[in-house]
Amino acid sequence: MSETEISQDPKRIAVIPGDGIGVEVTREAVKVLRAATPEKLQFTEFDWGADRYLRDGTSLPAGAVEMFHRDFDAILFGAVGDPRVPSNQHAADILLGLRAKLDLYVNLRPVELLDDALTPLRNRATKDVHFTVVRENTEGLYVGAGGHFQRGTPHEVAIQEDVNTRRGVERIIRYAFEFARSRHLRRVCMSDKSNALTFGHELWLRVFKELKSEYADVESRHLYVDALAMELVRDPTQFDVIVTCNLFGDILSDLGSQLAGGLGLAPSGNIHPGRVSLFEPVHGSAPNIAGKNIANPAGSVLSSALMLDHLGMPATANLLRDAVSASIREKQTTQDIGGNLGTREAGDWLAEFVATRA
Ligand code: ATP
Repeated sequence: MSETEISQDPKRIAVIPGDGIGVEVTREAVKVLRAATPEKLQFTEFDWGADRYLRDGTSLPAGAVEMFHRDFDAILFGAVGDPRVPSNQHAADILLGLRAKLDLYVNLRPVELLDDALTPLRNRATKDVHFTVVRENTEGLYVGAGGHFQRGTPHEVAIQEDVNTRRGVERIIRYAFEFARSRHLRRVCMSDKSNALTFGHELWLRVFKELKSEYADVESRHLYVDALAMELVRDPTQFDVIVTCNLFGDILSDLGSQLAGGLGLAPSGNIHPGRVSLFEPVHGSAPNIAGKNIANPAGSVLSSALMLDHLGMPATANLLRDAVSASIREKQTTQDIGGNLGTREAGDWLAEFVATRA
């Protein structure tokens, strides 16, 4: 594989498999990465997750953020969440902690149908479902601001605050325009609910209107989120890049994952351009299927491809994508997308595919 754009130094990857199927799919993704890029990546594994938390109370250790900035180029993440930790405090500390403290303000969630047979939409083919959700990842309703009053009584009041800053809104909308430009994508759609959320989302709409004149080469469109949800199902060909807030991005990208074959295939990147960033499948730890060797590793492999894009290794990234497409075509996949392989066997097939072409 000729990868002229990368330096000779191996890229340093922190691997956090986490819990449940996170551990199983990450193992396969690392196997595929090793097969595709012998000697170009160096892996260091961290055992943060429910087992460690239950053993000694560690979730995200002190100094972890500084260590990632100093010693790593990217983080490959599995999933966190375990029924033995009912509050899932460790999961919040680790994943939300890393997103906030590394300021990973872009949640990039590409939706790409890799095989006609995988979409639930009638008469749609691969060319029809191909867009990217750019989700704001550090603000909105997920910052945890709010509180209870008279909790547990009939008079209880619960307030969850929606935080939108000028800086946060501007940088994510700018990222969406720059992302479209850099990939020669024609259209950016910004989605909000500014007709009802007249303070926070009015800010989104105002910033979008201001910025779009700077990106006159990109077609810009605004849709309320309810209209967008409808249009995504009716005619997904209308969209290239969708930029939206944290909550709506979470929901729309799960909708998108179903249009393209389900959660088992959906990748994501938690990105701060130019800095250490974190890549993880969209799915969670799925305790109901953990330990059964049935989880689909493809979402983690496609997340690894996003990581390679971020590290300046696009040819190897595309090799991983080709491997997943080929596995679907040849039905060498797990059961959720029509094959009959186990997690490990699906990972072996992908590793073999890339090894013979690397
Ligand atoms: P979250 O952590 O997001 O709250 P969760 O851990 O409860 O979610 P998810 O991991 O998001 O659940 O998955 C929901 C369901 O989707 C799973 O129970 C499983 O049936 C299916 N699923 C998710 N990921 C995969 C996968 N990689 N392979 C096969 N099926 C999957």
